[in-house]
Amino acid sequence: MASNIRIFIARRIVTLNRSIRRATHLAVRDGRVLGLGGAEICDRFPGMVDDRFAGDVLVPGFVEGHGHTSAGLMWRDPYAGFFPRVGPDGVRHEGLTSIAAVVAKLRALDAVLPAEAPLVVWGFDPIYFGGPRMTLADLDGVSTTRPVLVAHISGHIHNVNSVVMARAGFSRDSNLDGLLRDANGDLAGEVQGPAVMARVARATGHAGLQRILDVPALWDYAAIARRVGVTTSTDLVNALDDPNVAALKAATADAAYPIRLVPAMRARDYSVPDGVARITALRGQSSDKLHFGMVKLVADGSIQGFTARLRWPGYHNGRPNGLWYIAPAEFEQIVTAYHHAGAQLHIHTNGDEASDLATDMVSRAVAAHPRPDHRHTLQHCQMADEAIFRRMAAAGMCVNLFANHIHYWGDQHDAVTMGPSRAARLDACATALACGVPLAIHSDTPVTPLDPLFTMSCAVNRFTASGRVLGADERITPAQALHAVTLGSAYTLKLDHLVGSLDVGKFADCAVLADDPLEVDPLTIKDIPVRATILGGQVFAAP
Ligand SMILES: [Zn+2]
Repeated sequence: MASNIRIFIARRIVTLNRSIRRATHLAVRDGRVLGLGGAEICDRFPGMVDDRFAGDVLVPGFVEGHGHTSAGLMWRDPYAGFFPRVGPDGVRHEGLTSIAAVVAKLRALDAVLPAEAPLVVWGFDPIYFGGPRMTLADLDGVSTTRPVLVAHISGHIHNVNSVVMARAGFSRDSNLDGLLRDANGDLAGEVQGPAVMARVARATGHAGLQRILDVPALWDYAAIARRVGVTTSTDLVNALDDPNVAALKAATADAAYPIRLVPAMRARDYSVPDGVARITALRGQSSDKLHFGMVKLVADGSIQGFTARLRWPGYHNGRPNGLWYIAPAEFEQIVTAYHHAGAQLHIHTNGDEASDLATDMVSRAVAAHPRPDHRHTLQHCQMADEAIFRRMAAAGMCVNLFANHIHYWGDQHDAVTMGPSRAARLDACATALACGVPLAIHSDTPVTPLDPLFTMSCAVNRFTASGRVLGADERITPAQALHAVTLGSAYTLKLDHLVGSLDVGKFADCAVLADDPLEVDPLTIKDIPVRATILGGQVFAAP
């Protein structure tokens, strides 16, 4: 009888399996790891030898614990971000480094768009321009007849023109949170937070990160993911309504679809009883490549957009405190209900006031309804101090820190948003580990590019975009960082029994690297080429 065992041979296999830490041979059957070790594996598990990666290093496939599959949709609109960026097709798009450059790009797009079509670009962040924000006049100068929308890279803010303001029903007399005003009290054309952004979405037909997914977008997302060694990714906010669930199921049912997906249900779209019923029903519909069970809550906004909630002394530049996305009293009811119902909560908190509050709420919910191994996770949690991490550990919580922020906004946090002392504990990986909080690190793609080797580098080296080290004492080792993008991340998703390390019975998921991230100069971890991924024993060459 022909064997259906395949044995991958590599220069080295970094397993993250405590019992067999290093191997050179990996035996796979039925998509799962059958055995691992040295050359004896060929004798003990006779099968077909695959030595195409004999010169390479295998690590467990990377697990992105906070990504958005809408990164596959964003590219349908032109990119207007500060940093150069590579699209799903591998094409590089240059950055726009001034408001004038963004406006010039909008004017050029306006000239070629059909008359009624809305003009939308994404990736914008004025904080890099050192002061001025985009105004209503800037965008009215582009068009006074079509809707113009500039989506910020954080996903928490839009700049719009007067056409959008009028269609959304916003005026000088509107009494709503989230409408930025100028010194005269006039609307500045900047809308912040879910309440007013939802009205803009209806007015323009453009829902940004909340757009309905389709199968081609999920394929584009997978193309981005496998190029950087990701074999499992969250979709950390998804309506999980029927059209979205259908798209997720259709894409992942295809044997050629190269990643596993883990969506989190956007709680805000449901009443609590309806949401509990929905997530409970979906949990039974999980498959090997699609895993339901997580619920997403958002407590506050973004730090660089000044919509995050900060404790004393507030924003370093004196800007007023940010927004609660859900009123704290209502937030606590939601946390308690989902905790009691057995769901796993992933709570977005950026500012330290939000992390503090969410930790309190989870702690009270756990005290009222003890539930072992809930693994409720704070997402981003960028400004938490040691005392918050200790309380998180005591409450059985996990953290997924936004390490890429150190590179992309570290200089701005130091100078503008939080000042040098709090910026030194931005995404405090070393403190989280010292306090015993299970740790993952992430990209929040499309907010920053998906690339776990780069995310590792951010946590290990803590270089900002200007090349200085931010908070040297919070650097972690390459081994800790590799754990955080594989097994640590899988743990926060309650998938550590299936992915994140190479062990018998787990999925045979690997990233194939040209070099060993634990052996190279830590400054070059981000430059290691990704040759391929292996998903359930099936090889996918990097696209
Ligand atoms: Zn996110």
